[in-house]
Amino acid sequence: MEFIEWYPKGYGVGFKVVSKITEVESEYQKIELYETEGFGKLLVIDGTVQLVEHGERSYHEPLVHPVMLAHPNPKKVLVIGGGDGGTLREVLEHKTVEKAVMVEIDEKVVEISMKYLKIDGGLLERALKGEEPRAELIIGDGVEYMKSHKDHFDVIIVDSTDPVGPAKLLFSEEFYRNAYEALGEKGLYITQAGSVYLFTDELLDAYKNMKKVFDRVYYFSFPVIGYASPWSFLVGVKGDVDFTKIDLDRAKDLNLQYYDPERHETLFQMPKYVRELLEGK
Ligand code: SAM
Repeated sequence: MEFIEWYPKGYGVGFKVVSKITEVESEYQKIELYETEGFGKLLVIDGTVQLVEHGERSYHEPLVHPVMLAHPNPKKVLVIGGGDGGTLREVLEHKTVEKAVMVEIDEKVVEISMKYLKIDGGLLERALKGEEPRAELIIGDGVEYMKSHKDHFDVIIVDSTDPVGPAKLLFSEEFYRNAYEALGEKGLYITQAGSVYLFTDELLDAYKNMKKVFDRVYYFSFPVIGYASPWSFLVGVKGDVDFTKIDLDRAKDLNLQYYDPERHETLFQMPKYVRELLEGK
């Protein structure tokens, strides 16, 4: 048996699977969980790979740590999406964090992750029960949450599905404006932004919208196991923060496998045509 995610133009990313663990049709999306031959569990939403257990850090590390280490003192962090708990887990690795709020629209993703996936080490359950002093887990729409919460977050991390269905508005100019207002005087915003080669138009749209709102916008890509890599990330900066520089002292506390803080500058390498496209925007 196999699971293949088909991208545009007939490009596929597949895994040999030994069994399907569960399949749930939630109010928002179809969630599937497989046991693969060589990568542990595979989480799929609406036919798209969300993560493989043995490789998920190749996504969560570049999503979380570059912005956390570039911010001078990230105390208050907001995570939108991220129902598997991997992003929240990495955020709490930072000792500066006093409060991390996670807003996930689909409680079924959280339930399946707590019951079978367990990459969060019990964090999601503790956060739901109010037993994790630094973390709060809210089941709700990140778009609505952002309209009404202007809490001076230091870092906002959008760990969403791709820009369709419930995640579509997370890539809109209006959402970016609300996020900008929700950041404190110095703030960093990051979102995953799809495959460099296969979703170039969606990437450019998100980049264009972010440029209208943030003081500076950075693009970087990273090879992520399980995705049509390299995968894109967009960073929006508010105020006096330099995303090209990170705190190497704080990086020493982290147990990293993929993102290399000592080579932070290599994040910014990109295919020539992508640079030219972005410069044209
Ligand atoms: N690593 C993944 C990827 O890039 O493919 C993302 C993983 S995480 C499971 C994505 C989560 O975003 C899903 O659980 C989904 O329910 C959530 N999500 C989508 N739209 C959302 C919204 N508007 N508000 C909050 N969460 C949302």
